[in-house]
Amino acid sequence: MIERQLAARDIRDPEILRAMAEVPREAFVPHELVEFAYEDTPLPIDEEQTISQPYIVALMLEALEIESTDNILDVGTGSGYAAAVASRIAAQVYGIERHASLAHAATERCSRLGYTNVHIRHGDGTLGSPQHAPFDCIMVAAGGPVVPEALKQQMAIGGRLVIPVGETPRAQNLLRIRRTGENTWAEENLGAVAFVPLIGTAGWSADEMAPARPRAPAAPAAPATLPARIARHAESFDTIENLSLEPFLERIGEARVVCLGEASHGTAEFYTMRARITRELIERKGFTVVALEADWPEAQRLDSYVRGTSVQPHPEQAFDRFPTWMWANHQMTEFVDWLKAHNDDCEPDARVAIVGLDLYSLHRSIAAVVRYLDDVDPETARVARHRYGCLEPWQQDPAAYGAAVLSGRYRACERDVVAMLTDMVRERARLAEHDPERFFDAERNAGLVAHAEAYYRAMYYGSAQSWNLRDQHMFDTLEAVLRHRGADARAVVWAHNSHLGDAAWTEMSARGEYNIGQLVRSRYGDDGYLVGFGTDHGTVAAASDWDAPMEIKRVVPSHQRSYERLCHESGVASFLLLLRGADSQLRRELSAERLERAIGVIYRPETELQSHYFHAVLPRQFDEWIWFDATHAVEPLGVAARQGMPDTYPFAV
Ligand code: SAM
Repeated sequence: MIERQLAARDIRDPEILRAMAEVPREAFVPHELVEFAYEDTPLPIDEEQTISQPYIVALMLEALEIESTDNILDVGTGSGYAAAVASRIAAQVYGIERHASLAHAATERCSRLGYTNVHIRHGDGTLGSPQHAPFDCIMVAAGGPVVPEALKQQMAIGGRLVIPVGETPRAQNLLRIRRTGENTWAEENLGAVAFVPLIGTAGWSADEMAPARPRAPAAPAAPATLPARIARHAESFDTIENLSLEPFLERIGEARVVCLGEASHGTAEFYTMRARITRELIERKGFTVVALEADWPEAQRLDSYVRGTSVQPHPEQAFDRFPTWMWANHQMTEFVDWLKAHNDDCEPDARVAIVGLDLYSLHRSIAAVVRYLDDVDPETARVARHRYGCLEPWQQDPAAYGAAVLSGRYRACERDVVAMLTDMVRERARLAEHDPERFFDAERNAGLVAHAEAYYRAMYYGSAQSWNLRDQHMFDTLEAVLRHRGADARAVVWAHNSHLGDAAWTEMSARGEYNIGQLVRSRYGDDGYLVGFGTDHGTVAAASDWDAPMEIKRVVPSHQRSYERLCHESGVASFLLLLRGADSQLRRELSAERLERAIGVIYRPETELQSHYFHAVLPRQFDEWIWFDATHAVEPLGVAARQGMPDTYPFAV
């Protein structure tokens, strides 16, 4: 390749020839095309994209005149090959790729090869990467209609940009642009080329594009249809109660954290199935923690009911605020009753705890800390009252606090709430001495107040920051509970798919968001097991707006470009599908990014595509997928049902 395809043509730069000799191109092409790795041709990669022809890569790199100290941006990273070659010459290479699956595969390859100065992310490269600018060199490996302004602005003065630009999506001229001053650029035409289209804000729009047809040396054999392949691999079942979970438990192995998602916050089957699995995990695998996407003090009421702990539950009714049905429902009470009966037969230390990971209980958590300190250390309780007094005006509407701070109308309470938490941590030995359980509860509440304060401020800076604060808080709480319960503790987590499926494989990552699932994977590796749930149609309990009444809504049959549609077309009504290490053909075919549906506490079927679907790579997002073709709304506990319950019952007053 070096001699015949590069040096024998006009590639002269010894650094480029050396770098291209060093990077193994075979590591960047699909397994079945390895024998063509050194042909003078682009090759197909996943997502109907291509790895560029070696000569074109060399030509672009030469045109960039790379120096060893240069900072490089690679737009359209694809397989990661060109970025890898550039990294052997330059100081840092930042790659952006619009397909999440390609971005992740490229990242994996570069890290396997030890190219630590390559940093690849999923996103729209036409916007560049302002946080890493200015760039000495920018290479764009896909053809757009114009030179994106953001890229011009992110060039260093003296920097070079090489980009294919053309009036149609498939034929371009390769341009080299130099930034000659603050507001001046010089352009040269290096000749005609044919790249795949640049799709994005300053490129072609996805809708304008005819489906890409990369040149392949050999046509792949026609695959069985994907729904049929799903049906072949699915473990189907008739009823949740009769399902044999033996194979599932075997797959989970010795996992310490099992995450059970849900595709809505109001579907009965998701709760019942999670309860069924959780019972098995408790009875047969020794799990001792059930962690819910619920606020700490709310779940604590359930915990004190099922475990009979010494912690005083907060005096008000649990789960009495929007969205009440999310936990106060019949499916949940059935599980809580089962857990209480199970715990009643266990020694106190072996009892299974229920904990809440979420942080929307500013008011109740403040009250819990103060109540606890009033009992054990009245002097510190006085300090706590004073410090938390800063948040007092906002307790009923904490979201307004962030706005008030941001506008400068109110001072931030950060120092007070953080000081309170650090004081408690510092005094742990003294305070926890008499009753570690009660101290732990108070400490979690103090931590919640500190994080909630930051969360409500961050809400006004952007959704990614507040989302990350919330999911980091949930993960930190889970970790704290596991530490508290001892070295062997194992937890099962119940939260929405969007918190538990690895965000790195969804469009969330392009927004800079991460989640519990991603943190579990990076902390626990194979000892974390992520299970997603999906449905095609039926009914769901949800509201039309925040704080609006709950309605039973009809779930629209799934979108034709979604994973849900594939599952529906499999014709299997309910099944478990192993994704981790699944049959590679199935996994590969499922790895083409598709839509996935997420219904939260709000469901708006009329704008479903915009408000409830997101892009994901399902077999990477989850280790296993549980499917119910038709589902039903959860049955909320009515006021009457709660009132009829005995005083000790956690959902009642
Ligand atoms: N240099 C790559 C290699 O060696 O594998 C070439 C990859 S291919 C020719 C171009 C890539 O650009 C495709 O993977 C495509 O998905 C990506 N792409 C297209 N539009 C993009 C955009 N706006 N942002 C980031 N990547 C984009």
